[in-house]
Amino acid sequence: MGIYNILDADVECPVCGQSAEANIQFRLGWLDLNQYQLGDRLVWCRGGIHEPKTRPPDGNLEGEGVAECSNCHAEYWVIVRVVADTIESVGVDQLREE
Ligand SMILES: [Zn+2]
Repeated sequence: MGIYNILDADVECPVCGQSAEANIQFRLGWLDLNQYQLGDRLVWCRGGIHEPKTRPPDGNLEGEGVAECSNCHAEYWVIVRVVADTIESVGVDQLREE
């Protein structure tokens, strides 16, 4: 996945069904293994590698991530939603299998 950021959030795991803390790798904003939690402000750009190239209008963007369940250690795809520069929510990507 290359360089990414990390989000720690409670997600209902699609594999074991538990609401467990997930360690999520995602590629939004300034990519430097930054550690985030829900409600944190996303840093869009601070030199180095960032995705996308510029902050989107209104600071709204969705991107995919890979979560690892802390309960069963399964990996699954999630969608990370940024609203007004804030990491607002994360949801399981039901459509993506692999
Ligand atoms: Zn699980």
